[in-house]
Amino acid sequence: MSGKADPRAAGEGTTSRARLDRGRGALGPALELVHTGRAPTRAVLTAELGVTRATAGAVAAELEALGLIRVDARPGAAAGSQGRPSHRLAVAEDGPVALAAQVHADGFRAALVGLGGRIVATAPGCEVVDADPAKVLGSVVEAGAELLRETGRRCVGAGLAVPSAVAEPEGLALNPLHLAWPAGAPVRRIFAEQIRAAGIDGLAFAANDVNLAALAEHRHGAGRGARDLLCVATGHRGVGGALVLDGRLHSGSSGLALEVGHLTVNPDGGPCHCGSRGCLDVETDPLAFLTAAGREPGPEVSLLQQSYDLIRGHYGDPAVRTATETLIDRLGLGLAGLVNILNPDRIVLGGLHRALLDADPERLRAVVADRSLWGQSGGVPILPCGLDHNSLVGAAELAWQPVLDDPLGALA
Ligand SMILES: [Zn+2]
Repeated sequence: MSGKADPRAAGEGTTSRARLDRGRGALGPALELVHTGRAPTRAVLTAELGVTRATAGAVAAELEALGLIRVDARPGAAAGSQGRPSHRLAVAEDGPVALAAQVHADGFRAALVGLGGRIVATAPGCEVVDADPAKVLGSVVEAGAELLRETGRRCVGAGLAVPSAVAEPEGLALNPLHLAWPAGAPVRRIFAEQIRAAGIDGLAFAANDVNLAALAEHRHGAGRGARDLLCVATGHRGVGGALVLDGRLHSGSSGLALEVGHLTVNPDGGPCHCGSRGCLDVETDPLAFLTAAGREPGPEVSLLQQSYDLIRGHYGDPAVRTATETLIDRLGLGLAGLVNILNPDRIVLGGLHRALLDADPERLRAVVADRSLWGQSGGVPILPCGLDHNSLVGAAELAWQPVLDDPLGALA
């Protein structure tokens, strides 16, 4: 244990009771700072919280006692640092975990995710998604329960990422279009029932996969520090978008905002399942890419993986290059419209869109700049997503949120 009392504390004129109360209110903000890597030392934590050293020390000690963080009281002096080195803070490597689950068009997967967005364990993905959501969610929860048994970790709750808009407050998957699930399936209720049936502690949550990817990128990845973060990504099929404003997901009045996949980017394009034509969803997803490159999609690996293999392994092939440029131009058109409407200070791209950016970043940035009002003046940074499995990490963030809001209340 650290948290040796600060000798100045007794002379502060603050009663220990008042310090304890203030400390309890600071537990959540302090945990969030360590969780997101913004408080690597107790000195930074003290400054960020705007409390006394004694209070910050008590807060760090309490979080350590809850098994959430580790306080290293005898760090080696950092090179170039001045004065006495501060205690180092890090998330506890053997602490509790959240059960994260993701379902997509080509399968499902379960993982355990600790604080800091660290994936602790994953179950092998399954590649067949049954038409009955209860069967799929039962299997993914069973895979997660097995991981919990194997690792012996405490579970704080569970989060589920699905490739569908999720309507709030009921938690209904309104348009699981690339799954055979019925529209409006009550996925959160089903998931919560399976979690309870498996004897797993904590609350269960469900949300759209790209929303969760954006949340994870904002807290742990390429979106850190952005104020108005726009995330656009393909899954294995289709395209989604999300906006994180001042650290919170902007999900609209009932969870359905940022359905960016249905912006028209090619008026002469193919029909979309939404009833329109030439939507971003059907013009820039992995199937669109394989089709544009003249490749017949094979059954052996996911469409997303086939697209990665083509763009990364065969970029010299003129058909692949032309298909890449075509999709970049369509994506750029969609992003330009979003830049005009939302004025983000950063854009992160995931899935195939990340691979398109990697293939020709200048072309994509030029299209966005040329086609948008605000893109012309200086431009908006467009970056690749920084995390592997960001939807899974984001699903875990949902389950971690009650702990981040009130660590003592959630865990005691
Ligand atoms: Zn559409």
